[in-house]
This record gives sequence, C-alpha cells and structure tokens, in this order.
Amino acid sequence: MTETGQRKEIRAAAELKQLLTDYYHELDKAHSEGQKVAWCTSVGPAEVLRAFGFKVYFPENHAAMIGVQRAGEKFIPVANAIGYSPEICSYLTSDIGAYIQHWTPLEKAYGVKSIPKPDVLAYNTNQCRDVKEWFSFYSREYKVPLVGIDSPKYIGEVEDMHVDDVTAQFERLIRQLEGITKRKLDEDQLKGTVGLSLEATNLWKEILETAAHAPSPLTFFDGTVHMAPIVVLRGDRRAVDYYQVLLREMKERIAAGVAAVDGERYRIYWEGMPIWGKLRALSEQFAELRTCVVASTYCNSWIFDDMRESDPVRSMALAYTKLFINRSEPAKEQYIAEMAKRFKVDGIIFHDSKTCPHNSNARYGMPSRIKERYGIPGLIIDADLNDLRLYSEEQTKTNIEAFVEQMEVA
Ligand code: SF4
Repeated sequence: MTETGQRKEIRAAAELKQLLTDYYHELDKAHSEGQKVAWCTSVGPAEVLRAFGFKVYFPENHAAMIGVQRAGEKFIPVANAIGYSPEICSYLTSDIGAYIQHWTPLEKAYGVKSIPKPDVLAYNTNQCRDVKEWFSFYSREYKVPLVGIDSPKYIGEVEDMHVDDVTAQFERLIRQLEGITKRKLDEDQLKGTVGLSLEATNLWKEILETAAHAPSPLTFFDGTVHMAPIVVLRGDRRAVDYYQVLLREMKERIAAGVAAVDGERYRIYWEGMPIWGKLRALSEQFAELRTCVVASTYCNSWIFDDMRESDPVRSMALAYTKLFINRSEPAKEQYIAEMAKRFKVDGIIFHDSKTCPHNSNARYGMPSRIKERYGIPGLIIDADLNDLRLYSEEQTKTNIEAFVEQMEVA
C-alpha cells in the first residue's frame, strides 16, 4: 500500500516496458532485416497490415509520447510555420513539427533514435479527418502510397448499409495492398490476426471492467499507460499474453482488497482525451481527494468485440464503424449514461480538448442533458491533449476540488 496521493504501481508495468521496447526496436531494425513497415491510424486496419506481413507503426502513439514528454509546445509552432493551423489536432502538429526537427520521444523512452520509414500508410477516418491529412503529409514527404477507409460519420444505429460500404472499402484496401506488396492476401493469416485482436480486445475489456468493483483496482490514468498494446499490437500474440498477466494482477488486487486509490470515496468517469503531459499531476490530485477515476470513453474505445475470425472483413468493418467517436450525439449520450451506471460513478469530467473537437463531447449540451436525465453531475475542463499552452493548471485544480467538494455535500 502507498500513502494517499501517490500512484500505486502496477507490477506488470515492467513487462509492459519491455514489450514496448522490443516493439520499437523491431520497427527500428525492420528495413535492415528486409521487412516492410506500414503506418496505421490508431483505430485503422492493423489486422490487415499484419496479415500482409508488415511491421506496423502508429504515429498517434508516437504523438502521445511527445505529449507525455511535454514537448508539444516546442514542436507545434514548427508545424504551424508550414501552414498546419494551431487549431487542428495537436497530435498532428506536434508529430509533424518533431519530424521536421528530426526529434523523437522514442530516444528517451526506448533508446531508439528515429521513427521507422513507411513503405505504405493506411488510415481510417472513423475517428476524424485529421488522421487522413496527417498521413497525407507523410505520403508526400516519403513518396509512398496512402490507402484508407473513409468511414460514414455520426452514425446512430449502425445499419447494414454502413457495414456494406465499409466492407467494400476494406476489400478495396486489400486489393490495393496486394498491388503494393505484389502478393495475394493469405485469408488464413487475416483470420489469425483478427482472432488475436478479438482475444486481446476481450481481455482488455475484462481488465477495464474490473474497475466496476468498489474499490476499483485501477484508474483511468493506469489505463492510459496499459492501453498501449491494444493500440500498437492488435493482431499480435504478445498483446494477448500481456493482457493475461495484467488481468491476473487486477483480479489479485480485488481478491486482496487492494484499491488503486486508498480509501476510495468517490468514483468519476473521464470523458474525452487524456491530457498527456498532466497524467501524473491529475492522478495524484484525485488520489489526494480519495477519488478514483474508474472509467473512460477513451480507454474503452479499443474494445472491438464484434470481430469474428469466421468473417474477418465484414466483422472488422462493423467493429471499426461502431466506434464511439464515429457515432451520433444520442448514441454517445446513451453509451455514457450506461457506462456511468455500470461503473457506479458519482460524476463525469468532460475534457473539452481544444484541438480535438471530434473527441470532445461537451459542446452540444451533453453534460446538461446527462445531469437532467440521469442526475449525474458533470465538470467541463478546458484543456488539450498535447498543447499545454491551452491548459490552466491552477484553475483546473481548483475546479476539480470544488467538484469533489460538491459531492461531499450532495
Ligand atoms: S481523434 Fe482527435 S486526437 Fe485523435 S487524431 Fe483525430 S483530432 Fe487528433
């Protein structure tokens, strides 16, 4: 047990560090070992790329690391100077700025000096337009093909017509990759990667759901760290192996009565992007307030339990189209209300991330509707995922304190 206000380390973190070190070193050596590298968006067609034998790199994971190392403010202006607005995604601007300056957070984190050059770039706009523009930049820079899926947006019920459309786009993408690699897709390989993705995603879901237990064995802040394998190793056996270890540890914590936040009094849901450069400070503040941020839309976004080995392409189309960020306001409201109930939360924090309107859900009356319909209070935090110039630490700290105090008197 630790003193109140300190982060409680998860044992599996050491294994995670090794896993990610190996992953980035493999990417670093890929070309010298005769392998091809594909870049993929975080909820892009990773299973297809792995079935073709590509090593897969995810610029969003790289950009989040820039945020964690608080280097965004240094590189965002570099991208602004070549015409990428300060108002668009700060993952995009910090990543492109770092590329122009030949800098990478991989060096400090894993001892890797540069990002791996792509042979192909593959996106899915199920999350936003910015990823396509971001990858288009690199396609021009490296003079490599860009392939992708332009998903139908703001969907309420996911209907057959949506899945038909995205399935056809997945099939086109496969044909394009066959042309690029000059080899036919091995159907069994694809079934294999989809099967592994499903296994990993189900384990990840089970891990996140351990937080429904009171006291919760993990926090949203732990989730933002331990989600890395479900982002970068979908379709790879190592993600499955890692999540088996992590799930065991969470179950042990529950059996032993170990709480992620000692003396847990209140439970909070986090809506929106993490504030990468402030994870530690925020997790410590919540721990001091004996309040556990038990669940989030963000960490749950990598649950793709509709995938089926028996029908890989169509089930991927369904799973990747159903994504929360791609849905209508009523579908999102219903999802958040269900999550709040399942995780027994006392309040919701809505992070209005200034450069990510796509994943900010406080702009169309959602907090007021949820308060009115379900009686769950909300607090809106104005900040950003990577641009800390858009974050007022003191003001946020005070607002969080007041929000928790309000729960005490309720
Ligand atoms: S969803 Fe938001 S944070 Fe993610 S790439 Fe798109 S704009 Fe950036």
